[in-house]
Amino acid sequence: MSTLLPAGSRRVDLRSDTVTQPTPAMRQAMLTAPLGDDVYGDDPSVNALQERIASLLGFEAALWMPTGTQSNLCALLAHCQRGDEYLVGQLAHTYRYEGGGAAVLGSIQPQPLTQNASGEIALADMAAAIKPDDPHFARTRLLCLENTWNGQPMSASYLAQATGLARAQGLATHLDGARLFNAAVAAADGGSVAAAARQIASHFDSVSVCFSKGLGAPAGSALCGSRALIGQALRWRKMLGGGMRQAGLLAAAAQHALDHHVDRLAEDHALARRLASGLTGIPGLTLRSAQTNIVFVDVADGRGPALLAFLKQHGVLATGMIGLRLVTHLDVDAAGIDHALACIRQFFQQPVVGLDAVAPPPPAVY
Ligand SMILES: *Cc1c(COP(=O)(O)O)cnc(C)c1O
Repeated sequence: MSTLLPAGSRRVDLRSDTVTQPTPAMRQAMLTAPLGDDVYGDDPSVNALQERIASLLGFEAALWMPTGTQSNLCALLAHCQRGDEYLVGQLAHTYRYEGGGAAVLGSIQPQPLTQNASGEIALADMAAAIKPDDPHFARTRLLCLENTWNGQPMSASYLAQATGLARAQGLATHLDGARLFNAAVAAADGGSVAAAARQIASHFDSVSVCFSKGLGAPAGSALCGSRALIGQALRWRKMLGGGMRQAGLLAAAAQHALDHHVDRLAEDHALARRLASGLTGIPGLTLRSAQTNIVFVDVADGRGPALLAFLKQHGVLATGMIGLRLVTHLDVDAAGIDHALACIRQFFQQPVVGLDAVAPPPPAVY
């Protein structure tokens, strides 16, 4: 009765869009990239990428970064001084998943704020959290938003209102746009993705974008902003140990990704919809959100860990936080999604055995 393949014969890695392997064409682009020493500022591939991403997103300058975490941290350090604070979502990556770097390394106090199910911070909460100029308080200096958040794109009107409020109160604004291009593909709705990305970025003083997520590069992010801000960020990147030499190898991968892997994000989004519609109606599962390339599903009766373990036995990898997170990307196809769905259906056809006889799931890693 099982339609499943034997364990191990198929591998479908839905843990994150970071797990993609560079394609043969991307590897070729990396091998043939002209290289210099980026600490001297003369790696032509890095320089070309920086100029391209800055102009693509409508900024004066950009800086290549080895990771998104370092990019966000350099942005926070460049915007804020010791004793400043930044407003950030309680569940935002910079606050929750970056080791507290802004506080540890920058003496920047986070002011985390509740987010709604779409990841938005209520404007009233934001306004109430901005401190008056009084020595009792840290100086509120920056608003940091994330788009997409948990795969969900923020509406253009919310972005305009939230950043407008911040600006009116003298705050700078930073976007953690690790998956900015997923948001842009969703917003473009078949139109120009570059124009949609630029439109989202236009609300912010700085934007960090990852090449290593859905765009499929092996590593790398970029921080975009004014020339002055990027000059500050360059000092911090050096201090943080992020000055890399022949980084053009990785910049070439990012260039290739911008050439070939942006519009195709729509395919990842279509696969996520295929997954979500297959999950709908399976008793024991509640679809929580399924936008762009990330599907969240709640698992009833504490069966999440057992489901994760069952899926792993059948070659399907996912992560769990509250329920299950399933992410589509370059290295997943429709057959893989259908295999994952068949495994999930089979799991729920089995009788419930002793609850949680297996280890708890690993924490979600972005
Ligand atoms: C992945 C991610 C980052 C940066 O992660 P790195 O693993 O350091 O590249 C930042 N913000 C969000 C929302 C992310 O998903």
